[in-house]
Amino acid sequence: MNSSVGLYQDHCGFCFDNSYSKLPASLFTHQVPQHFTNPNLVIFNERLAGDLGLDIDGLKAANWSFFSGRQLPEKSSPIAQAYAGHQFGHFARLGDGRAILLGEHITPNQARFDIQLKGSGPTQYSRSGDGLAALGPMLREYLISEAMYALGVPTARSLAVMLTGEIVYRAESLNGAVLTRVASSHIRVGTFQYAAAMDSPDVLKALADYTINRHFPELEKQPDPYIGLLKAVIDLQAKLIADWMRLGFIHGVMNTDNMSICGETIDYGPCAFINAYSPKKVFSSIDREGRYAFGNQPMIGEWNLTRFAESLLSLINSDQSEAIKIASQCLDRYQSKFRDDWLDAMRKKLGIFDAEPDDLILVEDLLMLMYKHQADYTNTFRNLNRPSQLSERLLSDQGFRHWMDKWNERLSRQAQSIGDAQALMDQHNPLVIPRNHLVEGVLEDASKGDMQSFHEFLNVLLMPYNQPKDDKFLSAPDTNYDKNYRTFCGT
Ligand code: AMP
Ligand code: MG
Repeated sequence: MNSSVGLYQDHCGFCFDNSYSKLPASLFTHQVPQHFTNPNLVIFNERLAGDLGLDIDGLKAANWSFFSGRQLPEKSSPIAQAYAGHQFGHFARLGDGRAILLGEHITPNQARFDIQLKGSGPTQYSRSGDGLAALGPMLREYLISEAMYALGVPTARSLAVMLTGEIVYRAESLNGAVLTRVASSHIRVGTFQYAAAMDSPDVLKALADYTINRHFPELEKQPDPYIGLLKAVIDLQAKLIADWMRLGFIHGVMNTDNMSICGETIDYGPCAFINAYSPKKVFSSIDREGRYAFGNQPMIGEWNLTRFAESLLSLINSDQSEAIKIASQCLDRYQSKFRDDWLDAMRKKLGIFDAEPDDLILVEDLLMLMYKHQADYTNTFRNLNRPSQLSERLLSDQGFRHWMDKWNERLSRQAQSIGDAQALMDQHNPLVIPRNHLVEGVLEDASKGDMQSFHEFLNVLLMPYNQPKDDKFLSAPDTNYDKNYRTFCGT
């Protein structure tokens, strides 16, 4: 996509284009954000704004009003995007019910990012919702998305949160807020499902061509760009879910509408990090059957990609049975791609540089022991090379001591020194993650107007591989905390 042609930079550094709204009109509706009466800035991501080439003084002089939707960047043509999705396995037509895409900002380096407001008022797709968001969930998304970015996971970013000055009504009355999100795009598996369900070959083709041009331009020259698109999205999702699994991240609501084509983590809702290792762990209050449990995520990724493949069938081949054959062959690559990415990440967590066939067993044996003893996922990996800091339960298990011997033998078989292995481990095992009890604590303070603890935690999360000054950021809560902890969609 040629980013620089004819673009105008306004006095705040916004350089807007609206390529998505040149797609067929059925894929979106024009929608301006709600005009909130008394917006107030809560947090602003100065570093991200700098990376985007925005003029921070200009934004401030404008009272941050772009981030509440009161003022629009020059050339912005705001829209709500239509999409569909399988929600907990059931197909539904959806769309941006509480989000508005202001347009695409082109950075000084010619990178293109969606700028989206979340919680900015109703749209044609709001159904019975109010289109609004409360402060807590928007700050939660800000904190966790920025933490994920610092942990090296592809993700939508957070640029600002503003209070709207108005109340939103949920189980209780809460302060309304708008989050400004920055993402490579918001094209979802569900966007393709929506286009495919319209039964209009032109719309589906326009969306696929646009996606290829925007995210995978190298495919344009290939003889089968749509097969290439399917393979590229499979690979990106496999990598993304391997990233989640290496860190103990549970997305919580992996519906196909929450799965980005460009392989970024989007739609932070009831997400959470595990403490004690368990593949069965679920925190989301709405996930009653554990469909999106921690250990199910790789398999759900494949299920979602199968829905993506289905939506592309008519583009892959005009003969449906041939198209299904080709799509199935593409999907076959998912499991091995995921396994390779995940094992690669887990090897690094264990200080292993090369590959041996039994590495998978070594990793799985450790996870079994962690599960048996409810060992803390983050701290166990971080402290494997500092055994005195491991949990008593783990250390007293003969099976674990045997595992340590096997692991040490494995490390001694590689060319790199033990010191190199330890350095590799420290680079790949974070000390600090957004632990649920800490997240809730800073959100509680923020709800009372005190942002100090939020900023303190955020600063620690931005350097997750460094020792924080305060040990409170390292400790897991007692196991009862997790038993009762529930996360919500934030609607
Ligand atoms: P989510 O589970 O957050 O991905 O949302 C699923 C669908 O519900 C999306 O289409 C959202 O836009 C929509 N939605 C969520 N919250 C609201 C709200 N407060 N008002 C209107 N639509 C909403
Ligand atoms: Mg969503």
